[in-house]
Amino acid sequence: MALSQNLELLELRFLGARNGSSTSHTNAFFMPDSETLVLIDLSLLNVQKAQRIIQRYRDRLTRVIICLTHTHADHVSGVSMLAYVVEHLLPEVRLEIIADSRVLLAARSILDAEGAKEADGIVVYRAPDIKKFAWDGQEPIPANYHWFGRAIPTEHDRNLLAATGFLFRVNGKAVVYSGDTNTLEPFEHQVWAIAEEETDHRKTPIELYLEVQNKKWPAHLYFPEIRPRVEEMLREIPQLNVIFMHYDNYRQLRWACTSFPEELQEHVWIAK
Ligand SMILES: [Zn+2]
Ligand SMILES: [Zn+2]
Repeated sequence: MALSQNLELLELRFLGARNGSSTSHTNAFFMPDSETLVLIDLSLLNVQKAQRIIQRYRDRLTRVIICLTHTHADHVSGVSMLAYVVEHLLPEVRLEIIADSRVLLAARSILDAEGAKEADGIVVYRAPDIKKFAWDGQEPIPANYHWFGRAIPTEHDRNLLAATGFLFRVNGKAVVYSGDTNTLEPFEHQVWAIAEEETDHRKTPIELYLEVQNKKWPAHLYFPEIRPRVEEMLREIPQLNVIFMHYDNYRQLRWACTSFPEELQEHVWIAK
C-alpha cells in the first residue's frame, strides 16, 4: 500500500514534513533544471539541510529560489540566514524570492533583516495574484521560469496578511502545493481544473501536496473533514496522487489513511 511506497517517485523532496510545533518543519524542494534549486519556504531548523544540498550541487547551481507561502516562523525564519550564507560563502549563487505581494509585504521586515536586502543581490519576484500591494523593487517572474505556474491564494490564520499555495509544472506533471491552509477549496478547484488537461496526449499527472492535521485546529485542515472530498478526487481523477504533509502525528495519520478504500491507497502518500 501507498504508505510503504518509494517517496523518491514523487517530484518534491522534503527537508522536513511536520507542523510548526515539531522539530521537522515542512519545507520542500525540487530542481526544475540543473542550475536551479527551488525551495518552498525555509525554516531556521532546515537551513543546514538546505546548505548541504546547495553545496552538493555547487558546481552547477547558479540560483536558489525560495517560494514563500506565508510568514509563520516555520516557513520564513530561515530566509535571512540562508541569505547570509549565500552572500558570504556562495557568492556565485544568486538568491531569489518569489511570493504573492501580500506575503512579501508581511515578510518585508524579515527580508530586510540581516543579510536579506535586495541591495545584497537578492532578487524578489511578485507572483501574479489578484490583489495588488506594492513593494518597490519587486519584479515580475521571468518568462523562462516555465516551472512556475501560479500562486494560489488561500486562508490560513486570520492574523496573517495572506497565505498562498502554488502550482508548479515539473517534469510534465502539475504539482499543487497547499502550504498551510484552513480550506481545501482553492486546491480542490485547481486540481479539478487540471484534471482534463493533457500533456503528450495523456492526462497530465497531478501531485497534490496537502497539509493535514489529526487534531482540530482553526487554522488547519482536519483529516476527517477533508477525507471524503479527497476520496472523491482520487476516485474521479486516476492520474492524481495526494501527498499529506505538515502533519501533527505521523502514526495517527498513517492509521487514518487506511480508511481510504484499498484500491485508492496506492495514490495516497505521507511526506517525510
Ligand atoms: Zn506551518
Ligand atoms: Zn502557518
